[in-house]
Amino acid sequence: MSDCIFCKIVDGDIPSDKVYEDDRILCFRDLDPQAPVHVLMIPKKHISSCDDISDDDAELAGYMLSMVKKIAADLDLEKGYRVVVNNGEYGQQTVPHLHLHILGGRKMTWPPG
Ligand code: 5GP
Ligand code: ZN
Repeated sequence: MSDCIFCKIVDGDIPSDKVYEDDRILCFRDLDPQAPVHVLMIPKKHISSCDDISDDDAELAGYMLSMVKKIAADLDLEKGYRVVVNNGEYGQQTVPHLHLHILGGRKMTWPPG
């Protein structure tokens, strides 16, 4: 997707503070962190949102979740963390490229706003 911010980050056209990368996913620090640690995990493949995860993407989506614990460990989030996926208008999704927010470094509150 040529006009997608996160695809541009994957391609290196927009710089990012990367914390992990492999052939399928990229993790980088959020530009506007909402916690002491706030990292985004994205698939390198453009998938617009949770609603757009196809059956063919199931393995990739599972891989993303399976990698969260490694990223959390790398970021010293042993006391816990939160994983958030905003979806669509009411979910307040602002970037239409699937991403997991990984937030930590402080105790989270509940319910979310
Ligand atoms: P959403 O609101 O879609 O769930 O989350 C999008 C996130 O992407 C926001 O937390 C926002 O701060 C972050 N973001 C938007 N543009 C950029 C960017 O160019 N670089 C980085 N590192 N984060 C971005
Ligand atoms: Zn994209």
